Amino acid sequence: AKVTRIAPSPTGFMHLGNLFGAVADERLAHQSGGVFYLRIEDTDQKREVPGGVETILNVFSDYGLNFDEGAGLQEDCGNYGPYRQRQRAEIYQTFAKWLTQQGKAYPCFCTEEELAAIREKQAAQKANFGYYGEWAVHRNMPLDEIKAKLDGGVPFVLRFRSEGNLERRVKFTDLVKGQMEFPENDQDVVLLKSDGIPTYHFAHVVDDHLMRTTHVVRGEEWLATLPIHLQLFQAMGWKPPKYVHTAQLMKMDGGSKRKLSKRKDPELALDYYKAQGYSVAAVIEYIMTLLNSNFEEWRIANPQEDIQKFNFTTKKMSVSGSLFDIDKLRDISKNVISRMKTETVYCLLTEWAKQFDEEFYALLTRDEAYTKQILAIGRECPKPRKDIAVWSEAKAYMSFFFDELFQQEEDYPENVSAADRRAILEKFSLAYDPADDNNQWFDKIKTISQELGFAGNTKDYKKDPDAYKGHVGDVSMVIRVAVTGRTNSPDMYEVMQVLGARRVKERLAKGIV
Ligand code: GLU
Repeated sequence: AKVTRIAPSPTGFMHLGNLFGAVADERLAHQSGGVFYLRIEDTDQKREVPGGVETILNVFSDYGLNFDEGAGLQEDCGNYGPYRQRQRAEIYQTFAKWLTQQGKAYPCFCTEEELAAIREKQAAQKANFGYYGEWAVHRNMPLDEIKAKLDGGVPFVLRFRSEGNLERRVKFTDLVKGQMEFPENDQDVVLLKSDGIPTYHFAHVVDDHLMRTTHVVRGEEWLATLPIHLQLFQAMGWKPPKYVHTAQLMKMDGGSKRKLSKRKDPELALDYYKAQGYSVAAVIEYIMTLLNSNFEEWRIANPQEDIQKFNFTTKKMSVSGSLFDIDKLRDISKNVISRMKTETVYCLLTEWAKQFDEEFYALLTRDEAYTKQILAIGRECPKPRKDIAVWSEAKAYMSFFFDELFQQEEDYPENVSAADRRAILEKFSLAYDPADDNNQWFDKIKTISQELGFAGNTKDYKKDPDAYKGHVGDVSMVIRVAVTGRTNSPDMYEVMQVLGARRVKERLAKGIV
């Protein structure tokens, strides 16, 4: 059984990458009967925002990713906590003390100015930057000097004493990228900052060991410091977890690929999907297509299967950055929504509208049965209609069903004269009977077409284009435009059945002007 975690910082900004990693983590753990937990990396207080933890919890609960352990709103849950790093300060300090006793860590009292001076000298001598080797000036400070400074309350950081050498290589196997090799780390990295709070490096090693993490999925920006992490695991005498370093999500921009950016791409933020009204299922489905190259094939073969039945594996993860394509997500979303039951669509749509469009929410819930009839058109049948990709498009799609929103959005067909238009609408208005079945209804339209000379076909047109008025399709188009205000709508018969006689008649009358 695998133990995985996500370890976000409560900065209030949750992005696609967070979800991408979390879906992989959750699947790895739960497919193996293991544990998926949440750890809050709140060591950088400056970047923290109030409610940051709540945001994290809400996002993951929205997406149906359930933690078995971890930080919670009220209290943490699980036996390996606390799950918030600031609350673990004493734990890190205990291990830091042990490293110090082993001679593997030492206090460094360098001020910012001293560090800057070291860098300047390094620049002048074209030496590598950093605090290492002979540049690590506080590395061998005599004990009595250290004691005097500590007694004097001089601030310090605790640094690791690196035995690493850039000439030597560390080998390592990433579960996706395969065998890799790096120079050893020679830097005396900071373990504890001057406030006693650990750096990411030290917290990662201590926490992932104590919380028995078996697999770490994280961004590939951490590859560069992996030699530090491996070195720290070794110094502690612990076995490192297995790693998957995922490449950043990319997008196409003017013919070339680039990383998604917080500044340029609103779709990087998870908030965006919520506000637009993407269905959670669609986003998860799309992330799975990005995560595993064989997922789409599986989905085509198993259109109705629960996504959890898909066997997620790191072996099918892409080595280079996945290309994020919002049109693809829209397609998936259309499919997902088209497959939903009316009841589900009603729940999800009203839930979205309640938060993002109150006016629409009021209309949708005014007559629940009516709204459900609208949503049922072209649904729960062998070939369901694919019309909307996101809930925010539902209003425009459904607007003509509500008198408050109904508008003449498109014009009547040009080839039908105003007189004929009136005649069509008048005749249909008289003939229309909501009790008619589909055939009777259409027969009436055909009769009107005959009577008004709209029963032509291609042959007639070819014979005498001037005498050709049109065909039955033109007549139904006139009725469609009058009743829905547009030239494109779901099946007219069904639409009229749902609209009901009152609305149909009122709109036909409006067209007879
Ligand atoms: N807080 C780190 C981040 O958000 C966690 C990385 C990791 O999963 O180890 O990048």
